Amino acid sequence: MNDTQELAPETLAIRAGIERSQFGEHSEALYLTSSFVFDNAAQAAARFSGDDDGNVYSRFSNPTVATLQTRLAALEGGQACIATASGMAAILSLAMATLKAGDHIVASYGLFGSTRQLFANQLSKFGIDTRFVPTTDLAAYRAAVQPNTRLFFIETPSNPLTEIVDLAAVAAIAHDAGALLAVDNCFCTPVLQRPLEFGADVVVHSATKYLDGQGRVLGGAIVGPKAVTEEVFKFLRNAGPSISPFNAWVIVKGLETLKIRMEAQSANALALARWLEDQPAISRVFYPGLPSHPQHELAMRQQKSGAAVVSFEVKGGREAAWRVIDATRMISITGNLGDTKTTITHPATTTHGRITPEARAAAGITEGLLRVAVGLESVADVRADLARGLGS
Ligand SMILES: *Cc1c(COP(=O)(O)O)cnc(C)c1O
Repeated sequence: MNDTQELAPETLAIRAGIERSQFGEHSEALYLTSSFVFDNAAQAAARFSGDDDGNVYSRFSNPTVATLQTRLAALEGGQACIATASGMAAILSLAMATLKAGDHIVASYGLFGSTRQLFANQLSKFGIDTRFVPTTDLAAYRAAVQPNTRLFFIETPSNPLTEIVDLAAVAAIAHDAGALLAVDNCFCTPVLQRPLEFGADVVVHSATKYLDGQGRVLGGAIVGPKAVTEEVFKFLRNAGPSISPFNAWVIVKGLETLKIRMEAQSANALALARWLEDQPAISRVFYPGLPSHPQHELAMRQQKSGAAVVSFEVKGGREAAWRVIDATRMISITGNLGDTKTTITHPATTTHGRITPEARAAAGITEGLLRVAVGLESVADVRADLARGLGS
């Protein structure tokens, strides 16, 4: 199943990248091995020189990992994919592969906390500076460009405020600047949004989230043109932020149900968001699938639906927000998302707790803000669990 062009996405999610072994197993095999053996010395030499593209060592190639890479590239509509140990390993690998000292990144404020810290605190030590701009302000992206700008990095919808970045517009600004546009497609997955179709050059994933979908393993991926993934591969081969074949296998099996999970979790999120809007204890609901979202129309142009993360601001700041969390009996109190189990988190004191208060304010993360990543339970049960702490 490697000639995948004409197949529907739900078929690709189940069939792309299968390489059966001599045993003819039906389900994808798990090749849990660190290295591979050669028939003879000449083959070993050819493998190491690259003349023979067979496997050598699982730091840089493994058949189970290859299945994941082929499948995800097909789903995103990209030329190639490199899987990594985590989402952050993917973002680091992309930066190391495409940037050098003296280069400049333009990134949105509305980024995952660790992405922001990686850019602001780690890459800066190696002479790569980042200018963070208001997530939805196209003029600010344009104004942030410098002669040495090489990479634009955005998330849409953003975490946790679900701000929408106009993909086509930012792609045009990046390309005018001679830079690549990379999009963290964690929240939508290729089921709901395919950034490459809107002009993005590269998609990165935390496969830890919806691609696995059941909160079991860490993983990440970079999808894009071979010119980029080949550079990423060189970094992976030498630096080793590689995914375990076991984790890759779990994610491969997760992809098979991605479409039905994303559609069902997104429908649950919309139902929950509508109910939250009616609660007097809540001052604001952030969900791209609601007509009240300031960028609802743009979201519906880029995304098939609003996705599964709903954030909302309760009246009464941190105390009221923590009360909602502490009154839950079913919803999992955890920073993770992208699980069949609904999760709740207070971004200001958890996922976004380490950034400066000024940066937090600029990103719009208030003390009353809560983020719910809606799972596959009955929406009525999720509602009842939240209603207790909201006094509704
Ligand atoms: C979780 C997450 C990451 C980081 O992924 P890990 O797999 O935890 O390293 C990056 N971006 C977004 C949007 C995330 O939610």
